[in-house]
Amino acid sequence: MASIDRERLAALIERERSTYAADHPKSKRLYGAAEHLFGRVPMTWMGMWSGGFPLYMQHARGNRVTDVDGHEYVDFALGDTGAMAGHSPAVTVAAVRERIESQGGITTMLPTADAEWVGAELGRRFGLPLWSFTLTATDANRWAIRLARLATGRSKILTFAYCYHGSVDEAFAVPGPDGEALARSGLVGAPVPISATTRVAEFNDLAGVEAQLAHGDVAAVLAEPALTNIGIVLPEPGFLEGLRELATRHGALLMIDETHTFSAGPGGVTQRDRLEPDIFVIGKSIGGGIPSGAYGISADIARQVEAHPEADLIDVGGVGGTLAGNALSVAAMRATLEHVLTDVAFDRMIALATDFTDGVLQVIERTGVPWSVSQLGARSEYRYASPAPRTGSDSAAAADDALDEYLHLYLVNRGVLITPFHNMALMCPGTSAEDVALHTRLFGQAVDDLAGA
Ligand code: PMP
Repeated sequence: MASIDRERLAALIERERSTYAADHPKSKRLYGAAEHLFGRVPMTWMGMWSGGFPLYMQHARGNRVTDVDGHEYVDFALGDTGAMAGHSPAVTVAAVRERIESQGGITTMLPTADAEWVGAELGRRFGLPLWSFTLTATDANRWAIRLARLATGRSKILTFAYCYHGSVDEAFAVPGPDGEALARSGLVGAPVPISATTRVAEFNDLAGVEAQLAHGDVAAVLAEPALTNIGIVLPEPGFLEGLRELATRHGALLMIDETHTFSAGPGGVTQRDRLEPDIFVIGKSIGGGIPSGAYGISADIARQVEAHPEADLIDVGGVGGTLAGNALSVAAMRATLEHVLTDVAFDRMIALATDFTDGVLQVIERTGVPWSVSQLGARSEYRYASPAPRTGSDSAAAADDALDEYLHLYLVNRGVLITPFHNMALMCPGTSAEDVALHTRLFGQAVDDLAGA
């Protein structure tokens, strides 16, 4: 099957939509009755689920989610990485209980002893000595960007086309005809033209990065070690080392965001490939689902920042949040890092993701669909292009909303969730070989149906 029969695809989507609507009357009713929520959902992106309305969650544990209509799903979406530790991991829940019930105290303006333990553990895993906490990866990126600007005295951040780092203004740039930063289509409420704050390059293009750094105004190169928000775009050999070298040569900092690529292993790609970032950002998963995030800085950056006594780092200078580092969040991070997202857990999760990827690859090869699949440790993702795209722009060009809708609905209707954004599947400690085999079988059937086989 070298190309997709669009009429057949449209008919299959209709078939799957009817099944979805018939099987989920309670979710449909709740969505229809939601009149006090912008976009009918608690957060507008929840409207992204295929089928015209989202499933409403009743409960979730491990890698299983049950909806209000009583259907249980094998969950490979895992809160788009927020639940990489599995839903409500027992050890994290126990630590949260201990904190809020036995001891008491969620937010007090006072540090707890757990924070130093978490800082030391993040340092052991990701190599940076000094840490601050946040409640989201977005905030970690925003606050760390301020420190990068202060430390270097430079104004711009270099990001990659089709990256995502949360609602961080600098991360929505694509290159224009002369390499200048243009706002990505759809950007909401940009405060200034994006070229005032941002330089942009294509992922895997070191010459493009160097051309932008040569302007001499870049405070930091902000990168995921693999793009993960436009399918997975893996780094080519030498790309990440090249980024480090170019940043140093041009006086810019290297800021690595491993919020998603933490899937690569217990120390992310940073530990695996011995990256040496100046600033490191992580969020989502490290609190086992309790809002948590962190950024780490090198001793040099700390010195450069401290060389600015006029900078108000303590009160209202723009870095920090009232609830950041609260006792509950820190207790959850400690429990999750100490007992759930361990070396042993990663070994298992990565082996399962390898099986998942092999299963998808076999279907692609057997049916001849012009697709590819990419794996980064415990996460795997298929994309409608072959070979796998090597830049964000190439990967963006391979997007296909109709195919997404068909595959997502096909899987949901048969008890499997992958992310509503593109086709990401993540393994957690609760994922089993049978769960992976179920996905492989369903994915094969879905593609066979598409081929009319
Ligand atoms: N960084 C990366 C790499 C992300 O993928 C995301 C979210 N998908 C964020 C940061 C922002 O995370 P949050 O929405 O939890 O702030």
